[in-house]
Amino acid sequence: MTHDPATTPKGVAVLGSTGSIGTTALRVLDRQRQRFQVKALTANSNGALLKEQVRKFQPSFVGMVESTADGDDAWESGTDALVAAATRDDVDIVLNAIVGAAGLDATLAALQKGKRVALANKETLVIAGDLVRDACASGLGEVIPVDSEHSAILQCITGHPASQVRRVVLTASGGPFRDWSQERLATATVEDALRHPTWRMGRKITIDSATLANKALEVIEAHFLFGLPYSRIEVVVHPQSVVHSFVEFIDGSVVAQMSVPTMELPVLYALTHPDRVEDDGVPPFDPVRLSPMTFEHVNHERFPALRLGIAAGEAGGAAPAVFNAANECAVAAFLAGKIAFTDIPRAISSALDALAGLPSGTRDQLLAADATARRHVQQMLKC
Ligand code: NAD
Ligand code: MG
Repeated sequence: MTHDPATTPKGVAVLGSTGSIGTTALRVLDRQRQRFQVKALTANSNGALLKEQVRKFQPSFVGMVESTADGDDAWESGTDALVAAATRDDVDIVLNAIVGAAGLDATLAALQKGKRVALANKETLVIAGDLVRDACASGLGEVIPVDSEHSAILQCITGHPASQVRRVVLTASGGPFRDWSQERLATATVEDALRHPTWRMGRKITIDSATLANKALEVIEAHFLFGLPYSRIEVVVHPQSVVHSFVEFIDGSVVAQMSVPTMELPVLYALTHPDRVEDDGVPPFDPVRLSPMTFEHVNHERFPALRLGIAAGEAGGAAPAVFNAANECAVAAFLAGKIAFTDIPRAISSALDALAGLPSGTRDQLLAADATARRHVQQMLKC
């Protein structure tokens, strides 16, 4: 019997399988079993859900970083389990749906092994965009974005050389506080901030969407993914989340990608790019029902995190890693009820001012910058 790579299902590792993107990905993979086989699953905790997923997909590798009582003795534990899952020989595609800096090592290891990384974990690119780019350039590994805006851009530019792109415009829903005054923002509760108008997501990214730090992370992500200078990456608020981004080409023509707000589509595309495959997971597109579609400028006074992140991106070096770590630390403190919503951008700004010019050439230096920024924020916020 001959082995035909075109018809053999590709092996997929889903890192962060119990999260919002992880469970979305497993819904897609369940529909696409002829094309993809789940070979590895990892989570941080929540052994009960992981067990259910293991029963359904029968992966050959399971990892749970924190070995809690509801786990299984046969599972790998500790952070090494993430790299082990990401570098397995039976895995072709690593879907990295881990939240935060914890996703970095698995991305780098998978790329060094020549895997496709379907990347939801945008923090990886923000902390270590240069290292990711070098890892892709030196081998067969590639990063395909799962983030809806970046998937949109990729879908618009595929088939065009980078030299034909004039600029990209990322859309932002504006989050739950789009219409809130500065005074009211200072009183925003965790519950208010978790009430996102268009997307159901994990807690950290939902808070990032409320501060617009998420859009800052995405601007930096776009810079590294598409090799565009920051001056050619713009942001527009689009509350309906139907247009996922715009690409303007050098002839002035603008191409956008649209769908109802669902992450199933960008997850599927990250698995199949540049191909498209038959799938019925996305509700039919009805432009009348989705109307009106509106666009407005970002209010930078009320949402300073966006400009802080772009400035960190422009500064380069360790500044994006400092931005990310300060944000992660402040968001955790906000979610724990220890600080006010408006303390989040204040903490980021303080960390960036205090920690300019940290060394950034290696993974260890970037993680040291990450740790320094977290310590700075903890001291500043007394949390
Ligand atoms: P989530 O909190 O719902 O899930 C996170 C997953 O990562 C869980 O499976 C959790 O067990 C695992 N995890 C958490 N901490 C970990 C650690 N220290 N080590 C190993 N695993 C750990 O988050 P999410 O909303 O699914 O987001 C995941 C990533 O995707 C984030 O980077 C987010 O910015 C990005 N993203 C999410 C969405 C969305 O719609 N949810 C959209 C675009 C991008
Ligand atoms: Mg996004």
